[in-house]
Amino acid sequence: MTVYLYRHTVIIRGCLLLLVAIFSGCSFLSPGPESAREAYWESLEEAGLAKTQLGLDWQEAGHEALASAVNTLPPVHERLWIEAGEIRAVAYQFQLQAGESVIAEVQSKDWKLAYLSQSSDGQPKAKARQTSGRLFLDIYRNDRGQWIPAGSFPKSSPWQADHAGSYLFLLQPELSRQGRFDIRIEVLPALKFPVSGKGPAAIQSFFGAPRDGGRRVHHGVDIFAQRGTPVLAAVSGPVTRTGDTPRGGLHVWQRGDHGRRLYYAHLDDILVTSGDFVKAGQIIGTVGNTGNARWTPPHLHFGVYQRFSGPTDPLPLLSGNTLRSPGAMPDELTSSRWQVNASKLYLRQGPSTRDRILLPLSRGQVLVSQAAAGSWIRVNTQAGDSGYVHGDYLSPLSVANPLL
Ligand SMILES: [Zn+2]
Repeated sequence: MTVYLYRHTVIIRGCLLLLVAIFSGCSFLSPGPESAREAYWESLEEAGLAKTQLGLDWQEAGHEALASAVNTLPPVHERLWIEAGEIRAVAYQFQLQAGESVIAEVQSKDWKLAYLSQSSDGQPKAKARQTSGRLFLDIYRNDRGQWIPAGSFPKSSPWQADHAGSYLFLLQPELSRQGRFDIRIEVLPALKFPVSGKGPAAIQSFFGAPRDGGRRVHHGVDIFAQRGTPVLAAVSGPVTRTGDTPRGGLHVWQRGDHGRRLYYAHLDDILVTSGDFVKAGQIIGTVGNTGNARWTPPHLHFGVYQRFSGPTDPLPLLSGNTLRSPGAMPDELTSSRWQVNASKLYLRQGPSTRDRILLPLSRGQVLVSQAAAGSWIRVNTQAGDSGYVHGDYLSPLSVANPLL
């Protein structure tokens, strides 16, 4: 995958500097979303630091993190350490649906500045002192194989994806800084749940289930609730039609963002009229069993129709990935290299035994830790796979181990 980091051309920057001198600000000239990390890199270029070995290593760490990022399942809640002399960037890559919002937060602690000093024998010696520092958390969107800057936290939090696709969150402290970082990334659903007081657990019939003896499939989800329970608008948008048909009974059509049309059916009562603009969460009707649902218990049939592609499974749009607590975080990791000390251990997609198994690991296998998530450790295998294992099944490995 080609790596592409957006940078102003010399000409545009020259023009901006000239205009900045005339006006106090001219952000309207900015040709795309500005990335805090890229702006920092430009300041390094201006200060003459970009061409130093340290500067080049810093930029290369970002490129490498973009190029080697593996898919992660949100939510992420991890603690990671960037040590003295370690130039590192960390990337999290997600799939997002159009309209999903991301909340990201990084808390940093023990900021230190790494520097060189002379020891008594005249040799340069790496040292560190307490300081403060800046941290960059930038969002990139994958566009035909290239990573294009799409925003920066915390200014953009919560940040909404306009298109479905691959996104990447790149975390990197400024040059020569080290510290401990707690990162949390959560994804909020694209749609609000359309039945008051209920959640995805109330869905009892799913998209694609057979209907009419297999002659057609279910183009929505059925959300069961007591008759009269408020039905809520899943998005903000205009009501385009209301009516009563033999199949859907009393129903409402609403237009949403991102080319979506929403269909609410089997209502007991309709509380809006065509042309009304309703806000997400506003009551538009009540749960019933009108139309062909009259022999089944009251439920809302909820459908999403996507422009150009037709009926779409609403479930991924209704289920966000909000945080489950990973438990207490360790104060430090005693090693960065580990050996598997169990005969049966799996690399998993997330930090719990409920998460999907990625691959089996073998006793003695060497893993490199990237971060901690409670008692779990996110590791990379030597083959380049990335996932989580429980820390109880790992033994720290001394770097001086002659077997390595
Ligand atoms: Zn249905």
